[in-house]
Amino acid sequence: ENVINKIAAGEVIERPANVLKELIENSLDAGANKIEVFIEKGGKRLIKVKDNGTGIEPDDIPKAVKRFTTSKIFSEDDLFNLETYGFRGEALASISAVSKFKLISRTLGNPVGYELYIEGGNIKHFKETGCGIGTSVIVEDLFFNIPARQKFLKSDRTELIHILDVFSKYAFLHTDKYLSITVDGKQLYNFYPSTLKDRVLNIIGKENEKDLIEIEYEGNIGTIKGLISTSSYITKKKYIFINGRPVRNWLIQNTIKSIIGDNFYILFFQFPSYFVDFNVHPAKEEVKFVKESSVVSLIKGALNENLNKFKS
Ligand code: ADP
Ligand code: MG
Repeated sequence: ENVINKIAAGEVIERPANVLKELIENSLDAGANKIEVFIEKGGKRLIKVKDNGTGIEPDDIPKAVKRFTTSKIFSEDDLFNLETYGFRGEALASISAVSKFKLISRTLGNPVGYELYIEGGNIKHFKETGCGIGTSVIVEDLFFNIPARQKFLKSDRTELIHILDVFSKYAFLHTDKYLSITVDGKQLYNFYPSTLKDRVLNIIGKENEKDLIEIEYEGNIGTIKGLISTSSYITKKKYIFINGRPVRNWLIQNTIKSIIGDNFYILFFQFPSYFVDFNVHPAKEEVKFVKESSVVSLIKGALNENLNKFKS
């Protein structure tokens, strides 16, 4: 099983940012409204996520790191009505197979917490420990047992950019929750519950407020909400979310680009669940649509309303 986990890890976990995504999603699935992230050396040395979610019952902690164990799917029907990020039960098994992995958790009903420590897929200890309610996952020395993969990691700086990208996406999606990130001992962002605009301005700089326009549009197949920059002088980053998930999609990106150019935007699309397929690949954030032309007209509808505001 260790070998299988090690191979499976390569599929889902290519770099520290993938680990962070899985851990943040687990915290959100556990109902946390406070999530603290700690990173060292671009995540190569340390990725830690501490939450105040439900915690995991002591008996369930060893199960949580086994492959295909999920507490989130009970029947086949659930697969088509996903309300949680996770459902494959692969992430913790994969991550703990390729790192020095510690999970500390305590539920409301327990006076003490428990700590599970795994090195390269081998359980080293499982013991009682004092801690608050919630879960901390500590991932050290990612790929320490797969040198070939470790070599493929980029510089600390580049890995950190990917990490901050993941962090920002979830901060934008969950503006009602507290999220912080500390990098090499220095707190970079510290987000209290606020509006999307506030969070975005925190990241791109408050002086850019005048260049942001708010979009809110209802079309035939779905809705679009969010912010677009009318200036090409601020960050050129783009964020697309569909039904509450960060995605990448060429159709959407190209359609927007053809209308507003290379400007910053952050847009939340909402479609009926039959219309979008998220299961193209577990880690690649790709989606497919039942009818692409409907997506194009939705975007055109939303942006054309505001076209006069773009400086060219
Ligand atoms: P999945 O999220 O697909 O179910 P994971 O491997 O990510 O699979 O997690 C396995 C299980 O461990 C989850 O189903 C959940 O029960 C438990 N778990 C993981 N992280 C947390 C957390 N932060 N808080 C509470 N439970 C967690
Ligand atoms: Mg998960």
